[in-house]
Parts: sequence; structure tokens; C-alpha cells
Amino acid sequence: MRRSRLVIPAVALVGVLLAAPVAGGAFSGKKAKRWTREVADIGARVAGGENERRAGRMVRTRLNALGYETERQRFALPNGGRSRNIIGRTPGRLRVIVVAHIDGVRGTEAANDNASGVGTMLEVARNLRGTNGVLVAALGAEERMMTGSSWHLGSRRLTRSLTAAEKDGVRLALSIDMVGVGTTFHVRGLEASPNRSARRLLRAAERAGARATYLQDTGQSDHDDLTRGGVAAAWVQWRWDTCWHRPCDTIDRVRRWKLWQAGRVVLRAARAAAD
Ligand SMILES: [Zn+2]
Repeated sequence: MRRSRLVIPAVALVGVLLAAPVAGGAFSGKKAKRWTREVADIGARVAGGENERRAGRMVRTRLNALGYETERQRFALPNGGRSRNIIGRTPGRLRVIVVAHIDGVRGTEAANDNASGVGTMLEVARNLRGTNGVLVAALGAEERMMTGSSWHLGSRRLTRSLTAAEKDGVRLALSIDMVGVGTTFHVRGLEASPNRSARRLLRAAERAGARATYLQDTGQSDHDDLTRGGVAAAWVQWRWDTCWHRPCDTIDRVRRWKLWQAGRVVLRAARAAAD
């Protein structure tokens, strides 16, 4: 009995020491940029195409390595093709959803729109791997001008996969989309004033000393279908990018510190929401 009393605290202490760096980790702009480059280097990632699939496989491998429980959600495209979401989850009741679309328009490596979001999401995922109730995702088929759909099909598929109870428990849902280029940092939403997720992000920005302004939008990213599907979501974006949907949307224009600014705000909001 005496021996076991000594052993248990020692094991607990080792557990605390191992867990501490995970719980208190910091967002690395350098790591986010590295992943952004990996995704952009694959080239144009049109919904339903081989490059979109390749990028998705890369994300799944990474999320598996981080210890996430991963899943591939497939869905049909209007042109007869198929796209997919790559989902990673940690245990516990769902509290936080962080998504970034992995597809892009034809004829561009789509580094800012949206390899930058995927790279940032992966670095957020690294920092949240020890946190319960997290869902991270690389979503397919966001670009409506490529799919011909009036919906953002990946986020629609994801939202439909959640139960009503899961949706009720979510405190923060957001899309990271175009976070490497631009002069103003925005939290965006469908509503005239910030919804619950947007308020959490704005509060996190303030606490982080990052200047962020709320800007209403008409639903130009995956927060749109999350919100319409019953999960009030926000969009994190640097704007404006003059190379949006053009061949000049290249990796050399993506700024590491902008990824860092967006990522650390998302991470701070996610940690507060998961508690
Ligand atoms: Zn986008």
C-alpha cells in the first residue's frame, strides 16, 4: 500500500509535465506558412479533381499524426463528380468547430484562397490536440463558381452530419479563409451585428492585442452554410486581395505574420470556448 501511494503521485506528476506544453502551446506562423506552402505546391485544387483529393489526403495524414480521430465525408457535386471533407475530432462534447476549405478555382495555386486557411487550421489543430470537444476540418467544394452550386457544399455536408444535440453544444464555429494577404483583419458574419462566434473572436482579438473589426458579408465562405444549418459561425479574413481567384494568388504573397495574427486569435477563442 505504501509503495502504491508513492507511485501514483509520481505518475500524475509526469502526466502534468507532459500535458503542460500541449495545453499552453503557442501558435507558430512559421509552421502555418510551411503547411500553406505544402498545400499551394500541389497546384490548382478544383473541386472533385485529383489535386483536391491529394491535398485532403495530406491533411488527413497530418491530423492522424496529431492524434485526431479522422473521418472522410464524401459528397456528390452537381457535375457528377465527388468531393470530400477531412474531419478531425478530439474526445468529449463538441464545443469548437474550425474549418478551412481546401479547394480553389481553376488556373491558380490558390495560396491565399485558401491554402492559407488550411495551413493556419493545421497549426491551430496542433495546438488544440490535447483539448476536448474540438472538430477541425479541411472542407471540399467551397468555390461555387467551380461547383455551380448555390451552396458551399462541404460545409453543408458537415453541418448536416451533426446531430441537433451537437449543434446545441457548439460555442464557437468559424471558417478560416484568406488569411495571408491584405491590410485589414476582419471577423465576418451574415448578421448585421456579431453572432456568438463572432463575439468570441472579437473578444479574443482584443485580449490578444490584435486589431480586428467586424464586417457583415453576404455569405462568401463556409460560415454561411454552417450558420444557415443552425450553427452560428463567423469568418476570419484578411482583406483585400487583388489577386483573388487569379493566377497571381501565389505563395510568395502570403505573409507569415498575417497567418500568425489570425491563428493566435482563433486559438485563443477556441481555448476559451472549449473550457
Ligand atoms: Zn475562399
